[in-house]
Amino acid sequence: MQKNFDLIIRHATVIDGTGAPRYSADIGIVGDRIAKIGDLSLSSSKNEIDLQGRVAAPGFIDAHTHDDRMMLSDPEMTPKISQGVTTIIGGNCGVSLAPMPRPIPDPVTPPLNLLDDEGSWFKFPTFASYLSALKAQPATTNRAMLVGHTTLRVAVMDDLESAATPAQIEQMKVLVSEAMQAGAIGVSTGLFYEPAVAAPTEEVIEICRPLKEFNGLYCTHMRDEADGVMDSLEETFRIGREVGVPVVISHHKLIGQKNYGRSDETLAFIQKSMAKQPICLDCYPYAAGSTVLSWSRAVTSARVIVTWSKKLPEYAGQDLDKIAEKMGVSQEEAVEKLLPAGAIYFRMDEGDVQKIMQFGPTMIGSDGLPHDASPHPRLWATFPRVLGHYRRALGLFSLETAVHKMTGLTAVNFGLADRGVLKEGAYADLTLFDDDTVDAVATYENPIALSKGIEMVIVNGEVVWDHGKATGARPGRVLSRPLTRV
Ligand SMILES: [Zn+2]
Repeated sequence: MQKNFDLIIRHATVIDGTGAPRYSADIGIVGDRIAKIGDLSLSSSKNEIDLQGRVAAPGFIDAHTHDDRMMLSDPEMTPKISQGVTTIIGGNCGVSLAPMPRPIPDPVTPPLNLLDDEGSWFKFPTFASYLSALKAQPATTNRAMLVGHTTLRVAVMDDLESAATPAQIEQMKVLVSEAMQAGAIGVSTGLFYEPAVAAPTEEVIEICRPLKEFNGLYCTHMRDEADGVMDSLEETFRIGREVGVPVVISHHKLIGQKNYGRSDETLAFIQKSMAKQPICLDCYPYAAGSTVLSWSRAVTSARVIVTWSKKLPEYAGQDLDKIAEKMGVSQEEAVEKLLPAGAIYFRMDEGDVQKIMQFGPTMIGSDGLPHDASPHPRLWATFPRVLGHYRRALGLFSLETAVHKMTGLTAVNFGLADRGVLKEGAYADLTLFDDDTVDAVATYENPIALSKGIEMVIVNGEVVWDHGKATGARPGRVLSRPLTRV
């Protein structure tokens, strides 16, 4: 039977996002949904794409981002759509743009300055007002947002160096409830960072209490990803159990030379604990991390590249040892002169990176920092690097598994209904790519570059990326979790 389609994608190799084996089919789209997958040789459409056997996959879901502000300030989201991302999870590591019911301190409290070092974007008094702004001015990608614990602390506490008082905990709980009611999907923490490091486990448990009623998630950049990683996993799982919600271990990694190889230990513990409570995890495909600059982190790293500096922007993109040499000072003194600033730190083991990425339940998230002058290449290249370098060149997993880790698995974990899979009735979020050429181009030296092989990207039935160019369409939506587990 003939049917009218708004778009037909012909001769696709369908990787459906569930991890199931590939098959050949045509895909017919009506409005924002996939209407038919099968043989559409008897149908036609004004808009047709012939893939000639190249891949159609669900649009990639970036499990871990700091795109809260980019969606408003750069709604084209080029670093994301150019690598095939159609949905982002924002508000991670305790850092969200909202709510900020009072003026943010000047200078902006790190690490909130990862989103905006001037402070003018922290202008949303409630989470609802932030989500309204996202809806009023859509970006290219869909988004599901977390509310950040560090943002909540800055919003209600004057002395950030101590634990929150019972009254402050009450205030934060009210803000969490408001955010969840408005459509947030959970709470994130960055217990590794000052000032959140001052928060005891009990503070986190208490402020997360409202999550249970809303089926929210608890996502965490754990307190310790180095020597104390096992204790931090325990703490994370305990918070999940006591609140009664699923936990997401953000960008799981092992930091510092003496912890190299310990992914055997952490993954075994995560696997064992998964039998008892819902646990998810994500990772980015690099052995170097990136965040705000600090001497304590720099001194434990094999190499440090400065990504931005408010006072000395001309040093962005240069190695810290070279900067210190040019300044004629020690590296520690150079850090002082550069602050506030950001950096890339080389202090992980490639073997651990690969084992964590290969671990069945691990999702892919970029953790990209979109406002850094010279960002970590993960901002532009995470997904093509997994598909090109780790899947095709190194053979860590099949194409089906790689796509599952960036689509179907992520949609199930975050409760994004009808996303992350190619099936009839699902939303038409698709990434069309060339399996033989897809790869990262961005590097540490040249971090801003379009990836190879991503041909077209479709969000809610509209083409947003077409062979190297954004089309101007802005069909992205705000996504929420269902109130009950699916
Ligand atoms: Zn983080």
